[in-house]
Amino acid sequence: TKIEDRLSLLNYKIDKSYEHITVNHDICAVCPDHFCTFACPAKCYTLIEGQLNFKYEDCVECGTCDIACSHGSVLWTNTKGGHGVKYKYG
Ligand code: SF4
Repeated sequence: TKIEDRLSLLNYKIDKSYEHITVNHDICAVCPDHFCTFACPAKCYTLIEGQLNFKYEDCVECGTCDIACSHGSVLWTNTKGGHGVKYKYG
């Protein structure tokens, strides 16, 4: 185990073959609110030149965006076995 992994409170095992959250970019393109950009504690949702950018790799699997998006753009599923975020203290 690397020292960085021992010291960090969060570790990620990114699943390159499966994005556990996807967004509907057709909906995001016309969304007037972009609640996701305020709600996500991991800053997975950002606006870049007015376009929504989403990075599933940094997700801490809190579920907030699934509730925050009132336009039905977020499709939320669980990460597949052994992947995603790992919390040091539960
Ligand atoms: Fe961000 Fe939580 Fe949604 Fe993951 S589940 S993208 S951390 S709001």
